Amino acid sequence: MTRRLLVVMLAIAAQFEAAPSARAELNVVAATQDLASIAQEIGGDKIKVTPMAKGYQDPHFVEAKPSFVLTLNRADLLIVVGRDLEIGWLPPLITQSRNAKIQPGSKGYLDPSQTAKILELPTGTVTRAMGDVHPLGNPHYWLDPENGRRIAQAIKDRLSELDAANAAYYAQREADFGRRLTEAQQRWKAQMAPYKGLKVVTYHRSWANFVDAFGLDVIGYVEPKPGIPPTPQHTLDVINAMKAQNVKLILVEPYFDLKTPNSIAEKTGARVVVLPPSVGGVPAASDYFKLFDTDVALLLDAIKATGTK
Ligand SMILES: [Zn+2]
Repeated sequence: MTRRLLVVMLAIAAQFEAAPSARAELNVVAATQDLASIAQEIGGDKIKVTPMAKGYQDPHFVEAKPSFVLTLNRADLLIVVGRDLEIGWLPPLITQSRNAKIQPGSKGYLDPSQTAKILELPTGTVTRAMGDVHPLGNPHYWLDPENGRRIAQAIKDRLSELDAANAAYYAQREADFGRRLTEAQQRWKAQMAPYKGLKVVTYHRSWANFVDAFGLDVIGYVEPKPGIPPTPQHTLDVINAMKAQNVKLILVEPYFDLKTPNSIAEKTGARVVVLPPSVGGVPAASDYFKLFDTDVALLLDAIKATGTK
């Protein structure tokens, strides 16, 4: 985007800003639809939430649309996934937004990974030099509902800080979200319980927290390393491991090419399941609860179709 265009866009934004608003609203921008969904649960009608990455996009590699700069320019709060998930696209947009409120370290910048349970934390020095896009632990942590609860708490705390007048409102909504989440968790766990320890292969390391919560056993990945496309030798290793351990399911995030998974499935008699790791990944996964409803239903259908149990 040219500097001139940016200036024009910011001038337009300033005009809108000057118009009297119907009610006090915090402008919240969420890096993903998962965070947007939880923020909406907590903020209700006191906030306006705009997600950036769509659930059907790979959150590591999102196209930095110019409109994002304008959206960020007007934000009171930016919620990021963190753990370097968005490092490939978000930091320059935050800088270009020229919005002091949402710079890292400010009150308007929230990274809920700081209080979430993070798996696969690296030991020793890790760099991105080898192409691994998970240098600070597994960033797909929202896929454990317990982390959804922690994210909700972090959002409640920060909204209450930014908008103290509505603190009781946010606290009440967070408590309600927590109650509904506990109920849903019991249902999902009961549905998955018969398949504890079931061995699967996944394309990317998206499911560490999900299997931690629901008990599947991931024995391999189509990617040799997070963010590194399949190689013939690694694919052969995966096929051999699947044959040796009789693995019949390959879980693939909606944004990956199905060519390699399909070829592995052909050679192993396994089934490929496209499973959304994010809200918005498929139309049915339209909020944080429906994401788990959808994934659990897709998994159960696939497990039954393979006749594994
Ligand atoms: Zn990842």
